[in-house]
Amino acid sequence: MQKLTVAIDGPSGSGKSSVSKEAARRLGAAYLDTGAMYRAVTWHALDAGTDLSDAAAVEAAVKAADLFISTDPDLELVTIHGTDVTQAIREPFVSEAVSAVATNLAARAELVSRQRAIINAHERIVAEGRDITTVVAPDANARILLTASEEARLRRRGLQLGGTQSAEALEAQVLARDAKDSTVVNFTVAADGVATVDSSDLDFEQTVTAVLAAISAQDK
Ligand code: C5P
Repeated sequence: MQKLTVAIDGPSGSGKSSVSKEAARRLGAAYLDTGAMYRAVTWHALDAGTDLSDAAAVEAAVKAADLFISTDPDLELVTIHGTDVTQAIREPFVSEAVSAVATNLAARAELVSRQRAIINAHERIVAEGRDITTVVAPDANARILLTASEEARLRRRGLQLGGTQSAEALEAQVLARDAKDSTVVNFTVAADGVATVDSSDLDFEQTVTAVLAAISAQDK
């Protein structure tokens, strides 16, 4: 099979993780969830009692993080210093703190370099996040921005969290997080050469089909 790198960006609740993972399976490719890497180092910094408003301390915590992330689309596994944090990094306390780490430019540089190393180590990979099409892998064979209306994104995240969150908590986790994140990366407007797929009115299967079509249209 030919070498293939696919970059997919989008805001939270756009469906990018589940859609990217399924696209990877169908393409016989590995899958990299870069958001999980930001979540894992945030979990680590919180666990170590790091003051997230101390930029130098956050940078040091991220650089020292012994992070492993599975790139098998059928095995979800993230460890930090050997501790399995796969479930813990999805907890609301991590979602609420993650932007403090993701807006630290030195922490980003460290994670971007680790992400590039992982991507380069795979013949075929789908990598998703906020800055994959623009910063991490601008030379990817195919680049896609997966968007969805605010309403659709809030509804999906609410379902994902099993209806456990109030409307206010959901808004804080989805919209406020996107607002903070977009101070350092642009994931609302497609950069030149990046195809936009709007999933607002598409179900899961239709979104996967649209993403695969956008990939084959670019990867010629
Ligand atoms: O995709 P997910 O919602 O799990 O991402 C968690 C957080 O990681 C985002 O809110 C953002 O702060 C950060 N992130 C980022 N750049 C990426 C991927 C995620 O800043 N490429």
